Amino acid sequence: MFELKAQMYFAAAHHLLNYEGECENQHGHNWLVEAFVTGEKLDKSNILVDYKVLKKELKSVLNLLDHKDINELPYFAGESPSSEMISKFIYNKLKERIPIVSKISVWETPTSCASYYEVD
Ligand SMILES: [Zn+2]
Repeated sequence: MFELKAQMYFAAAHHLLNYEGECENQHGHNWLVEAFVTGEKLDKSNILVDYKVLKKELKSVLNLLDHKDINELPYFAGESPSSEMISKFIYNKLKERIPIVSKISVWETPTSCASYYEVD
């Protein structure tokens, strides 16, 4: 299998619901997003997917979140927008554009990361 990864940042505010602690108060992060794609077959240039295409589509998805209050977005209505749920949101949106996306990792600090992927 081949695997590629592209990284991109977005900045946004959120607060956790049903949670007692400082994260129940609105605050912001500069989230680092890692988008993984995997596949066995390369194209005629021997690439899995063009990084340019992957980054363009990832940017389109992250534009839905960038400089937003994530709690206000319809997708997260009534949901606690944790990094876990943000990774699932990005996965589902990017999968519509790039079917071979295999995992999304979302770093909310340099040492804390949540990922979403699906098992067949
Ligand atoms: Zn937070």
